[in-house]
Amino acid sequence: MTLHSTPITMWFDHRIAYRKSPIHGTGTFALEAIPAGTTLVLVTGGIIYDPKDAENGTLPFDGMLYNGERLSDTQYIATPLAHHYCMNHSCAPNVIDLSRHPATSHRVTLRDIQPNEELTHDYYTRETLEVCLCGSALCRWKA
Ligand SMILES: [Zn+2]
Repeated sequence: MTLHSTPITMWFDHRIAYRKSPIHGTGTFALEAIPAGTTLVLVTGGIIYDPKDAENGTLPFDGMLYNGERLSDTQYIATPLAHHYCMNHSCAPNVIDLSRHPATSHRVTLRDIQPNEELTHDYYTRETLEVCLCGSALCRWKA
């Protein structure tokens, strides 16, 4: 097994925090008003590994504590779980991820955010969705 690492950068706005979410599990919430166009989360880098090692159970870290993303058939990248992971899906999101690279998250507010509002972004696809819990009137996955 060969592991490589790329420098991990994690930056989070001080006005966001984890709380229990009415949508699902743990969510990310605004502690105070945040204007539209504000960068809330910037995460890059991680540990690069061969997905065969994950299938064989030989990775030297607990995959449940990392967000894994595919870079190629032979390279995946694991980044420690943080705000880029604990942000729930909504079909009417108030945050967008501007990153075009699987190992990078750059989350920015789409509109003005109110204090205590849950921050959400749109990441569901037909492949990953079983049930959408977003509760939005605009939900495109309603039964
Ligand atoms: Zn929905």
